[in-house]
Amino acid sequence: MEFEVTESIQDVHTNLALQLEMAKDGGKKVVGCLCSYSPTELILAANAIPVGLCGSTQEPIAKAEEILSADQCPKVKATFGRAIGGTCPLFPLADCIISETTCDGRKKMYELLERYVPMQVMDLPQKPEEPAAFDHWLSEVEKAKCFLEKQLDVIITDEDLARGIRMMNEQRKLMTRIHYSRKQSPSPISGLDFANITSKLNYYVDHEDYLNLLSAFAQELEERNAKNIHASGVEGPRILWTGLGNSLGCNKVLRLVEESGGIVVCSEGCGGVTRTEDLADETLPPLEAIAQRYLRVTCACMTPNTQRFEDLERLCADFDIDGVIDLAWQFCQPFEIESYRVRELVRDKLGLPFLHVTTDYSAQDEGQLKVRIEGFMEQIEASKQRTRKTVENESRRISA
Ligand code: SF4
Ligand code: SF4
Repeated sequence: MEFEVTESIQDVHTNLALQLEMAKDGGKKVVGCLCSYSPTELILAANAIPVGLCGSTQEPIAKAEEILSADQCPKVKATFGRAIGGTCPLFPLADCIISETTCDGRKKMYELLERYVPMQVMDLPQKPEEPAAFDHWLSEVEKAKCFLEKQLDVIITDEDLARGIRMMNEQRKLMTRIHYSRKQSPSPISGLDFANITSKLNYYVDHEDYLNLLSAFAQELEERNAKNIHASGVEGPRILWTGLGNSLGCNKVLRLVEESGGIVVCSEGCGGVTRTEDLADETLPPLEAIAQRYLRVTCACMTPNTQRFEDLERLCADFDIDGVIDLAWQFCQPFEIESYRVRELVRDKLGLPFLHVTTDYSAQDEGQLKVRIEGFMEQIEASKQRTRKTVENESRRISA
């Protein structure tokens, strides 16, 4: 493949930091983002560079635990540890950060994080279907725009916002093409390569260059499909990934799944297709379009988050899924509790094998996880054999 990732996430960060420094020397500003609710359109409209600052590795956690209690999720601890430990080359380059009140761990950590860098913590309504939720969120999006104007010393016009929306929609359309290339069976790419490549591409300086790379990646996957080039010879169980995401640095479970013979062909949630196929409406006044788009994000911090379940059902059918893996990081209440409803949908309604995994960024549970995942693959194979037998019996009965 033309696209491959040989660097660690630390190397990716270091390379990006060098490029960002040069861009900053040329007058560009950098805005940190921490979540799928951060309206990137505003940052692009301000002509600044958005940079994801979430932690995805174990190393910064010890530093964070000097301040935060150990029973916080690894995402919160790694993000905070990166910021205060002086080990992340990206944090010092952020002129400011946009963040949101999603889960409790994040919003309480942000109270400490804003001691280090100017932050706008947007107040995210958590019952998005309530009529008052939209007006409140729209006012938060307006405040975030004013915050960026002040911090970056720019004026953001409606034309700038419309341009930001077009840029993000273009990015989402390309990413959706990339996700849907994996509908083909066998898949053109492994889930591990997919997660590593897309998370590396996500660190960019120039948005136009980023779009060109996404377009080339989409084209390469489509060409592989046309030429019948697959990730592996015989395709193992096709897995849908849900819950919390995979990225370069924290993909231990994904690696174990694929080492055990499965292949992740679809992801729902952050890093997945449901975050890319939903576009902002270019016909609406721009701030409204941005507010609407982000209020539709289906994170477990929302209640009752019904859209996530509709998406899961649709994707299991569209991607011809054999089994579902649902990951929650340790101490993540929203995804842990919502997992019960995911299990009900997948196992009871769709009749598919389901595995819920709770883990952290360390390697200490790998042996135990490997045993569970191998057992899950066997369960899927047995379930597929039962289905095959039922279909054979049915066709014999019809032809008799
Ligand atoms: S899972 Fe929720 S809180 Fe975490 S990045 Fe995604 S939207 Fe944000
Ligand atoms: S949603 Fe869960 S995993 Fe994400 S930051 Fe909050 S507690 Fe951590």
